[in-house]
Amino acid sequence: MITLLSGGTGTPKLIEGLRHVVKDEELTVIVNTADDVWWNGLYISPDVDTVLYLFANILDTDKYWGIRGDTFHALNQLSKYGAEWTWFSVGDRDLATHIIRTYLLKKGYKLHEVVKYLSEKMHVKATILPMSNDRVETMVKTNKGSMNIQEYLVRFKAEPEVYEIKFPGLEKAKPAPGVIEAIERADMLIIGPSNPVNSIGPIISLKRVKEKLTRLKAPIIAVSPIISGKPVSGPADKFMRALGYEPSPIGIVEIYKEFLDGIVIDVVDRSLAKVIMDKYRVKVKVANTIMVTLKDKVKLAEEVLDFAKRMKQ
Ligand code: GDP
Repeated sequence: MITLLSGGTGTPKLIEGLRHVVKDEELTVIVNTADDVWWNGLYISPDVDTVLYLFANILDTDKYWGIRGDTFHALNQLSKYGAEWTWFSVGDRDLATHIIRTYLLKKGYKLHEVVKYLSEKMHVKATILPMSNDRVETMVKTNKGSMNIQEYLVRFKAEPEVYEIKFPGLEKAKPAPGVIEAIERADMLIIGPSNPVNSIGPIISLKRVKEKLTRLKAPIIAVSPIISGKPVSGPADKFMRALGYEPSPIGIVEIYKEFLDGIVIDVVDRSLAKVIMDKYRVKVKVANTIMVTLKDKVKLAEEVLDFAKRMKQ
């Protein structure tokens, strides 16, 4: 079994490639829920939905959120009613997911049960696990004030300066049922190229998760989301700097150093390989890590698997 830790963009791209190399049944994805939001009375789990839609083959892979070809009539109508947060686009078919999820949560089901239910209904063969059933938020302190992560990313387009990132609820949050087992039973654990601060950070900060990762015998491999000092998309560089890390593969290794065995870095960063290996004792694989075409994604997935398999020998 391959276990992945995922946010909602970088790792899903890698998963797209992995799906051409291994069966979906062999993949377990632990997904960040710290950027979940309540939106006009509905509970939205953006990263989980991206992963769900990906495995259901309906993800809009131009944007990495929402359902391909969706329409936005409900959103337009909601705007006319003066609904809140209409800058956060929710498509009509996507809306159905949020309605049923909220309905089931209100009936007393736990988030992991709802995700399992939705996975079954969408014929998903992979195991998708929300990182926690407990409510965790991500708040960003900026020069425009303190705001929720979705406000920062979507409404303010990740433009304000970032001073601090906080995760209310994270300290008390427990891993969802299945999360610890998915780490323990993994033959390899892949930390995809997701934002190390706001996507992977909350997962590895959960009670018992870091401890399990530190003790894991199976190889733990990360793919750097930072290439030549910049993320491919999103504010990972700003967030890393705000936490005192340099935005580079070295900063990524710093964040994961307690448990990381290997990292895949981009060819343009190859000069950093020696420092990573000598200073951190982390193995390095240099590869083309920019995933635009399906071919790029499959090639990188093959290289990550090959790297992890060699590490076991
Ligand atoms: P979010 O949940 O939408 O914030 O997305 P993630 O945290 O999963 O992914 C955001 C990260 O993905 C950014 O830091 C990007 O640098 C990284 N990323 C996106 N596309 C690529 C790519 O093609 N290659 C690599 N290496 N990283 C990527």
